[in-house]
Amino acid sequence: MAYIEVAHETRQFQNGDQTTVANRDISFTVERGAVVTILGPSGAGKSTLLNILGGMDSPTSGSVKIDGTDIAHFSPKQLTTYRRQAVGFVFQFYNLIPNLTARENVELASQITHDARDVTETLTLVGLKDRAANFPAQLSGGEQQRVAIARAVAKNPKLLLCDEPTGALDYQTGKQVLQVIQDAARQTGTTVIIVTHNSAIAQMGDQVIRINDAQIQSVVTNDHPTPVA
Ligand code: ADP
Ligand code: ADP
Repeated sequence: MAYIEVAHETRQFQNGDQTTVANRDISFTVERGAVVTILGPSGAGKSTLLNILGGMDSPTSGSVKIDGTDIAHFSPKQLTTYRRQAVGFVFQFYNLIPNLTARENVELASQITHDARDVTETLTLVGLKDRAANFPAQLSGGEQQRVAIARAVAKNPKLLLCDEPTGALDYQTGKQVLQVIQDAARQTGTTVIIVTHNSAIAQMGDQVIRINDAQIQSVVTNDHPTPVA
């Protein structure tokens, strides 16, 4: 069984008498452990889809099965539990706590989780073992994003959602950060969804879902995901 099964998912927003369809009849499946990229221009509906997969929002219609459970009609309380237990998040701007070290930022996340991963192991996984005592301001952008990845992975999520994780980085650093996310996913068995508007970054995914104007344009499976140089 696929880890994610989205079927005919539609999300409309109503503002007064104006209706915006942000996701229209979206259907796709994702295998457990896959690294999937969602590519599309600004306003295409990527964040709306990511918010629904992460339990921050619910669709207007359709089903969103995660590990066999349809979360489309979850109550706010059920969604909170789902988010806390199953989902890790990485954002464009790292959202690290400035007066905590890299290690402390990761520890903070692991403390609130029952089955957290070992902090040193997680920092090693993202290549930051030697930078663990640094504060965010003492780290480069790429390194700060690695801390944010470690923080998300330490929670031991089944699903890792990344919203423009390379958006604030230059291309080479962005590629390295994507490689770190992939390595972490491979070693932990985590299923990863990465939203990006950079098509070269998107090509690094096992599966590339192209969204335009609220709809899926194409889903391409990459046998040998490679970045465009
Ligand atoms: P992307 O992430 O691809 O830039 P979004 O999912 O943020 O796209 O937005 C898709 C469309 O839905 C846009 O037209 C946006 O204005 C609209 N939209 C998103 N969130 C809301 C909201 N809370 N209320 C009204 N319209 C929204
Ligand atoms: P990038 O070009 O990748 O953004 P930087 O040029 O900012 O990287 O940093 C290069 C190296 O210097 C990194 O390893 C980073 O950790 C280190 N560094 C950057 N700023 C500081 C700082 N204020 N204190 C200590 N080390 C720093």
